Amino acid sequence: MCELCGYAPSGLNPQTCLEARNELFLYTLAQPRPPFIHQLAVDAYSAQHLRENATPITKLFPLMGLFMVCEQGATGLEVQMAHKRKAGDVDRKNWPNPPIHPSPFLMNVGDVLRETEGLDRDRAIHKWVVSTWASYAYIHDIIRAFCS
Ligand SMILES: [Zn+2]
Repeated sequence: MCELCGYAPSGLNPQTCLEARNELFLYTLAQPRPPFIHQLAVDAYSAQHLRENATPITKLFPLMGLFMVCEQGATGLEVQMAHKRKAGDVDRKNWPNPPIHPSPFLMNVGDVLRETEGLDRDRAIHKWVVSTWASYAYIHDIIRAFCS
């Protein structure tokens, strides 16, 4: 079992969390709808695998994506463009370094892979994003301020 996201292999699902991620990313990279859903999968997966000693950008970018999707209704494409803009921020040295506490997640990559490809899986990815964002309620204010 993955100690960070809680992924446990079952049925035909891959043996490890990383293999499950790779399988999902192969799928999301090929999807035309909604725009660039791959970014949502990348950010949800990354946000579930953060460690306290990660760099600020490693922590902030996935959480920024989750914030934009959950609170601003952004698409993956919009998140990707915002990441690119933010990466050029001249104020980068003053970025916050949010604390990361181990937290249980309601869904992980395995729950998404179990859904049928297509709209069902798109919906599962969105639910995965929403539930992951909810697990970080203790740093929502930091992320909101970072994105404003
Ligand atoms: Zn994991």
